[in-house]
Amino acid sequence: MRPARFALHRPTSLREALALKAEFGDAATFHAGGTELLVALKARVLHYDHVIDIKQVDELRDIRILDDGTLSIGSLATHHVIANDPLVQQLIPGYAHLSEHVANIRVRVAGTLGGVLCFAEPHADAPTMLCALDARIVLASATGQRTVSSRQFHVGEFATAREDDELLVSIDVPPQLPSDKSAYRSFGHTERPAVGVAAVWSPQGPQRLRLWVGAIVAVPGPLSGAQEAAESLPPDAPFEEVWQALEPVITADAEKIDAHDDLHGGADYKRHLITVLAQRALQECMK
Ligand SMILES: Cc1cc2nc3c(=O)[nH]c(=O)nc-3n(C[C@H](O)[C@H](O)[C@H](O)COP(=O)(O)OP(=O)(O)OC[C@H]3O[C@@H](n4cnc5c(N)ncnc54)[C@H](O)[C@@H]3O)c2cc1C
Repeated sequence: MRPARFALHRPTSLREALALKAEFGDAATFHAGGTELLVALKARVLHYDHVIDIKQVDELRDIRILDDGTLSIGSLATHHVIANDPLVQQLIPGYAHLSEHVANIRVRVAGTLGGVLCFAEPHADAPTMLCALDARIVLASATGQRTVSSRQFHVGEFATAREDDELLVSIDVPPQLPSDKSAYRSFGHTERPAVGVAAVWSPQGPQRLRLWVGAIVAVPGPLSGAQEAAESLPPDAPFEEVWQALEPVITADAEKIDAHDDLHGGADYKRHLITVLAQRALQECMK
């Protein structure tokens, strides 16, 4: 099916994009790579009189280091660009690895990080890892700019803390300590993940372990018991010792998750995957 008719706008600056959104309000939407939006428009699940294609807003494309060492990823960066970016590969190689395994090459070259976050389909990889990395989401509207923690950004299926008039500008990952190691592992039998687990192992940091799970429920969440248990482990503990201590706690954390049977798998199977994927992610961090 073809989408219903709409007026297409192609701003070349952020200011222009925000002014268009302010002018047309909820009759308008932003279009980045279109991998989700176009499907929804064609299926007539969504309809807008105005589509604001932001692909020519070059200032949303940059991946750069800010003065305080934050890695700022422009919302228009595609999964493919992120996977191959030297700064991402150097500073958060686990995130480059994640991006390299999103969907298929067609989705990776067109789909953007801003798009996957704003669409908020729960079966996605990036949100879980960004929560573990404690990233910040920068949003702008015609009236100003604000920052939301990645941990508060997703509020439900297809629902985020972004106001309708706000455009996602960048995803800012705070500096990690040189000894921090992060990794993400996911599994699914469709093109999207059924379960994904992100780990940040931080032997010198104020929090030894950040362990987050996503895709299994609407919004990523921490495996809090495991995070707490990790605090009492020696910073130089080998993987075998860490896993012996954490495996039962991770399994207990997983059992508390309110998963459902769906086309991605049975609830018990998906809970079981959490322990399997957490082991792989932790092992990768500690090798
Ligand atoms: C077949 C398939 C398989 C997939 N598999 C995976 C997977 O394995 N793992 C995974 O993580 N993801 C997966 N995805 C999701 C994929 O990551 C997203 O489709 C893609 O990143 C969306 O980006 P986009 O630029 O195409 O968004 P668009 O389709 O352009 O936009 C999506 C939504 O976000 C809004 N939007 C986009 N950019 C902004 C912005 N900067 N500010 C405000 N609103 C904005 C749009 O208005 C729209 O509502 C898959 C998608 C498909 C189609």
